[in-house]
Amino acid sequence: MKKVVLALLICLFFCCAKAQLTPFELSKDKNYTATYAEIMAYYKKLAGQNAQMKLFNYGTTDIGKPLTLVVLSCDKVFDPVLIKKQNKRVLLINNGIHPGEPEGIDASMMFARNLLKKNALPKNVVICMVAVYNIDGCLNRGVSRINQNGPGSYGFRGNYRNLDLNRDFIKADSRNTLALEQIINTWKPEIFLDNHTSDGADYQYVMTLIETQKDKQNSILAAYTSKILSPELYKRMKKSGYEMTPYVESEEASPDSGIVSFLETPRFATGYTAQHNIISYITETHMLKPFDKRVYATYDFMQALVDINERDAKLIGELKQKADEQVMQQQTFALNWAVDLKNYDTLNFKGYTAGYKPSDVSGLSRLYYDRSKPYTKKIKYFDNYKVTATADKPIAYVIPQAWGKIIELYNLNNIAMHQLAHDTTLNLQMYYIADYKTPSRPFEGHYLHSDAKLNPVSMKVKFYTGDYIVYTNQPLNRYIVETLEPQGVDSFFAWNFFDSILGAKEGFSNYVFEEVAADLLKKDPELKKKLDDEKLKDPKLANSAQAQLTFVYRNSPYFEKTYLRYPVGRILTTTKLDLK
Ligand SMILES: [Zn+2]
Repeated sequence: MKKVVLALLICLFFCCAKAQLTPFELSKDKNYTATYAEIMAYYKKLAGQNAQMKLFNYGTTDIGKPLTLVVLSCDKVFDPVLIKKQNKRVLLINNGIHPGEPEGIDASMMFARNLLKKNALPKNVVICMVAVYNIDGCLNRGVSRINQNGPGSYGFRGNYRNLDLNRDFIKADSRNTLALEQIINTWKPEIFLDNHTSDGADYQYVMTLIETQKDKQNSILAAYTSKILSPELYKRMKKSGYEMTPYVESEEASPDSGIVSFLETPRFATGYTAQHNIISYITETHMLKPFDKRVYATYDFMQALVDINERDAKLIGELKQKADEQVMQQQTFALNWAVDLKNYDTLNFKGYTAGYKPSDVSGLSRLYYDRSKPYTKKIKYFDNYKVTATADKPIAYVIPQAWGKIIELYNLNNIAMHQLAHDTTLNLQMYYIADYKTPSRPFEGHYLHSDAKLNPVSMKVKFYTGDYIVYTNQPLNRYIVETLEPQGVDSFFAWNFFDSILGAKEGFSNYVFEEVAADLLKKDPELKKKLDDEKLKDPKLANSAQAQLTFVYRNSPYFEKTYLRYPVGRILTTTKLDLK
């Protein structure tokens, strides 16, 4: 009888152990990534067997399915407010933003199971993992990354609306983005990781790393990440057998000529989290290395990040608080950056010798990497960025309620907002958009503006009951200023939120306006002089009847004041407001 019980127990053990293996592990050649159904079934089963793990669903994605967050908590506390009260850190790992780059999906499934099985959950860190972010793309399975070495099939980069979700964090066109922003602003992680696979050059490393560009990152956090956390990650990964290099993005085809540190502006996941003072990393495994190695390297990176987070939990909490306080006081904000090609560092790089030979396709010269000729040499590392645009924050911004999407996003991001109690005329600064550039074709569903030039004007503007006042004394000042200042590289203006102000609503018929314009010039000698002066400066104006009429019209009381007027006001002096 004992033997039978023992046999049954052994059988049960193997059944359970087998059930806990991931589809990647169960596959013969380890060249397989789990499907959406397999991911969800796996986590549901694991959560059912372990009280230290819980699944939470947020919002819906564009395909109608909720976003699933896997939470691992050593002491089984799953309330984000309580976790903050316990002074624990939250680490958020995002997987499958690009489902064709699925290492993080499979590595996270093994990682969760092993932490639970080995009773190895960190005591000071709650681990949150997005099971798969771009569910829509994950379901659209095939072989769409032609240069990638496995897995056999995988999801597609675009979501159901064909959006690249890793460009959507400010414009938030996708419901996936709204759900993830809800997760970030609910769980308030101090560290964020986004798992990817690279494109581009060939070299010896399995794993490459993007960290928030140090000149863009909050300086308190940058001091810690660049001196302690990142070097420690590099050290630990080398020890684990997956030595890393900074993400390889080169000015020229081959990295021999140097690599440029990646600038993740706020449209990217880690650019958005950097605005929230969250320490952020992107792993980019190398597309030409076997899939299993890429999965294991991602696994080891997550383990290293958890271990250092656990060790430095108290310090990271203090640094986050200091960074938030610094941002609350900060007066001037960077809005755009450019790489400083004159000011570079060097790094030891393990590459393959690049060469050129005739192409079998075109007969023309083509680049290739000779894997029989590996090298280690010092190359240039362009990791310094200059600020190219700044803005001083006002005391407060006034956002008319008409721009409802901004209010929705600000609520989602926990921005403190007040509302005017009555219709109120305010004396404040408004911007007129003097110039901007727009491409002729759309990018990610938008005609992204750039190079905005502004004319700031002090004026009286009437706002209405319920319009929003946003004071700039908040930990999220960076998000506020970088989205509301039109010169921001990923401002709401850049992403077309305000395009309706770029068109005039009224005009004039020349033959009717001729008499009125003549009368205006007669009655207003100053305007007449202004026109004459302009004509002297501008021969095109001097030779165009239409242009002169337009000049008079635009300088007349008939001309609409809201044309090209950026509708968000800037309160620059202490103003007593009656607020709801
Ligand atoms: Zn990617």
